[in-house]
Amino acid sequence: MGERLEQVQRLTEEYSDLPREVVVKEDLLRTGLAFSADALRVASGFKSKAYFIFSFDLVPISEMAQQENLHAPEEICLKGGPKDFRRTIVSVRLNPSSPYRIELSCEGHLILALEGTELAEVEFPEVPEYYRRTLVGGKPITDIAPTIEWGYLLYLTVFRMCQYFGRKIECQFCDINENYRQQKNSGRSYTAVKAVDEILEALEIIQETDSESRAYTVTGGSVTSTLDGKSEIDFYVQYPEAIERRFPGRWIGKAVVQALPPDEVKRFHDAGIQIYHPNYEVWDPRLFGIICPGKDRYIGRDQWIQRILDAAKVFPPSQVIPNFVAGIEMARPEGFTNVDEALNSTGEGLDFFMSRGIIPRFTTWCPEPLSVLGRQNPKGAPLEYHVGLLRVWKQTHQRYNLKAPPGYGSSGIGNAVFSVSSFMDVIEEQDNPRSQEHD
Ligand code: SF4
Repeated sequence: MGERLEQVQRLTEEYSDLPREVVVKEDLLRTGLAFSADALRVASGFKSKAYFIFSFDLVPISEMAQQENLHAPEEICLKGGPKDFRRTIVSVRLNPSSPYRIELSCEGHLILALEGTELAEVEFPEVPEYYRRTLVGGKPITDIAPTIEWGYLLYLTVFRMCQYFGRKIECQFCDINENYRQQKNSGRSYTAVKAVDEILEALEIIQETDSESRAYTVTGGSVTSTLDGKSEIDFYVQYPEAIERRFPGRWIGKAVVQALPPDEVKRFHDAGIQIYHPNYEVWDPRLFGIICPGKDRYIGRDQWIQRILDAAKVFPPSQVIPNFVAGIEMARPEGFTNVDEALNSTGEGLDFFMSRGIIPRFTTWCPEPLSVLGRQNPKGAPLEYHVGLLRVWKQTHQRYNLKAPPGYGSSGIGNAVFSVSSFMDVIEEQDNPRSQEHD
């Protein structure tokens, strides 16, 4: 048996309080996925990766010999197979040399194999009808309003760059600016700043043809001075204002922007946004300064955290959902070297927020080579950390009797669609807040 397969099996047994599927899901997200030529050929007929914000790949496009960037699916669904997997949705992060590989079996089925051993059967997402449409000006919908989370979430990155620009100021795990450059160089239609009218036109098409999407996210890079002559709040709030005017309550509106002062947060609330994501990225105070130098310099950690708490007076606390990037606290050269210490630190942050009814969520760190930390840490954080974090998150969530956060669709293994980490997969049935969703 291969070394990685052995590790996955050992952790599956050690963490029997977690669904077995999440060990593989987390490992896929931190390691990336390879495709055989046949599997990639099949994938061409399905919904392909839209590069909705960052690259979320473990190699740059220039190293993709099979042009995986053009053909690989946005997500995969794992199910059945020798391990009898329950339905598990995983975002595709490309890595042609990954030990995880999607192949065609002798019977012609798509399968996921680890070091040559089959783990599960695989499905690719169907191409939604609106993906075949373009705007009047010729831009594809996949540029303006792609969907992720198996069609649940419209991802509106309205500013594909960030004014924290350059090594000394950008978040050290982030490749937004570099990814923008590589996508443009590859010839993809990739709009830097999306016009409000483009978004509305795309949503009009989606509204006509789609019944799967339930939420939208408005997001993009930080605006430290102005963009199109507008401050950060003036720039970002114009999108939900226009969307909610045209399609009132059609989707759950979410905004991922910096931690803003309460009067600015209220403008999102008044525009019709229901979920506010002021992402704090990493809990440890020392690492926040090192990993997020721009956020530290312009806003500062203490103020960032205070603004999260203040936002929970504008929105109900359960609708303030700050993200962190799970694993960056173990990035060399400055991160924790010990898994338990890293988990204790992150667990302290989870306790701080969850004891106040605020439920942080996380994306599993993808060590992108176009980012500073990705270049220094091509292997990311240990799998032990990621699986341990799921246990800490779940236990803290249960300790404070919290529900699943709204705006993420169904929860629980077999139901969850959140694809960039497994926090929704580990929530148990009784915590599923279906009444809070607009299903
Ligand atoms: S604020 Fe940080 S994480 Fe967000 S886009 Fe800018 S550099 Fe990236």
